[in-house]
Amino acid sequence: MRGADDTVFERRRPAESLVEASLRDARDACFWIEDVATPLRFPPLRSDLVCDLAVVGGGYTGLWTAIRAKQRDPGRRVVLVESRRLGWAASGRNGGFCAASLTHGEENGRTRWPSEYATLERLGTENLDAIEATVNEHGMRVDFERSGELSVAVEPHQVGWLQEAASSGAGKFLDRDEVRAEVDSPTYLAGLLGEETALLHPAKMVDELARVAADLGVEIFEDSHVLSLDAADRSGPVTLQLASGAVRASRVALGTNAFPALVRRYRPYTVPVYDYAVMTEPLTRSQLDSIGWRNRQGIDDAANQFHYYRLSADDRILFGGYDAVYRGKKVRDSHEHRPATHRRLGSHLLTTFPQLEGIGITHRWAGAIDTSTRFCAFYGLARQGRVAHAAGFTGLGVGATRFAADVLLDLLDGLDTERTGLEMVRRKPLPFPPEPLAAVGIQATRWSLDRADHRQGRRNAWLRTLDRFGLGFDS
Ligand SMILES: Cc1cc2nc3c(=O)[nH]c(=O)nc-3n(C[C@H](O)[C@H](O)[C@H](O)COP(=O)(O)OP(=O)(O)OC[C@H]3O[C@@H](n4cnc5c(N)ncnc54)[C@H](O)[C@@H]3O)c2cc1C
Repeated sequence: MRGADDTVFERRRPAESLVEASLRDARDACFWIEDVATPLRFPPLRSDLVCDLAVVGGGYTGLWTAIRAKQRDPGRRVVLVESRRLGWAASGRNGGFCAASLTHGEENGRTRWPSEYATLERLGTENLDAIEATVNEHGMRVDFERSGELSVAVEPHQVGWLQEAASSGAGKFLDRDEVRAEVDSPTYLAGLLGEETALLHPAKMVDELARVAADLGVEIFEDSHVLSLDAADRSGPVTLQLASGAVRASRVALGTNAFPALVRRYRPYTVPVYDYAVMTEPLTRSQLDSIGWRNRQGIDDAANQFHYYRLSADDRILFGGYDAVYRGKKVRDSHEHRPATHRRLGSHLLTTFPQLEGIGITHRWAGAIDTSTRFCAFYGLARQGRVAHAAGFTGLGVGATRFAADVLLDLLDGLDTERTGLEMVRRKPLPFPPEPLAAVGIQATRWSLDRADHRQGRRNAWLRTLDRFGLGFDS
């Protein structure tokens, strides 16, 4: 049954058989990770060692922290330990949108930190420029394209939101014809063109960061899970206990994202939220011509439950987002399997681009996002300033993790910098409540956001209450 409040994805839903056909040969695997044919591999830690800085986590946060530490002080001994393989988690399987925003978008940043937003914006742009400079300086082959971001309105009420964003300087407003001249989807009603985003190949980025880190002398260990973190006294080294050895470090940086924080008191600040994606086969020339998309922007829509999509270097479409699924506080590989969500993404892809009827989806996967109640990273310092932790990037950590690396090092080195002076860095978000309250609250929020998307964006009493307390749920 179709109703008056249906979204465009319900009104223009393609036949189920078309969606099934497009997914027929899809494999449960992340395209990006498979696309790095011979990734760098590192041995497990098999003995005890002593170092100046130990970094836990082999995603972007850990890798950038190790690199920046060596760039700041080449003489320090830096060791990085990773539970499984570098980049197997969020860093290898994300959408590859590398945004300047450090605050999960302008609106979130302006609302939470109005007086320091101008500084946050400048620091974000400098951070993106520095990522691009590192890519160029080290010849990193990561398919980096600074092609910008196009936000699209797919429901009438979203047009005004984009106009408002444009008038606050977030980008250039495009009317229906202008946006469809850029990218031709019958669902588009308007667009907002922003320049402050680059696209990259997530898994190649991990691999190249690892190469740069190793070249700088960082000692990397994979398959090396840290079981515990202890400090015997108030000033000596901190000990990381692993199954097959221990690392004694003067300073420790934790970049463990959605996984349980080794400093227990930071655990309530994030919950793992599963985000899903599909990847098509490469588009043919005529399929691409039917869409346009010559400027290759990353695209997202303006709904609460939004999609993000982009072209890969070989002209596949990655299409992800919409369902953001919370299944409890444990990260479990089994949560990645959700055929109904992948079918929904396949359906929404064909609604967006009906020109692609018959296209095959080759890969489908998911990953855990470390959602915080304020949608961007928080920072913590523990064990008398010897251990620093950053997590909570929510769905926007590809660029922001490099900034976080510098914050972690500033904190561990006891430096008073523009970064450490930020309220965003000094203050923590509100924690999530314990279970079962967290699950009940998150389900109520998801349900309300979906309802708002079906009711011209109108927020119900629950969402308005959360807004008042600066609380939220996003991916
Ligand atoms: C599907 C998906 C799409 C996304 N799309 C985008 C996007 O387009 N743009 C964007 O900006 N962001 C996106 N994100 C978010 C982004 O990927 C993350 O914010 C970012 O990768 C976080 O990096 P990280 O290093 O902090 O975490 P991770 O990459 O998760 O790395 C953490 C690592 O720590 C290791 N670890 C944890 N505990 C231990 C331990 N005890 N001992 C040793 N190692 C440990 C883990 O094994 C893991 O490898 C997306 C995320 C997902 C899942």
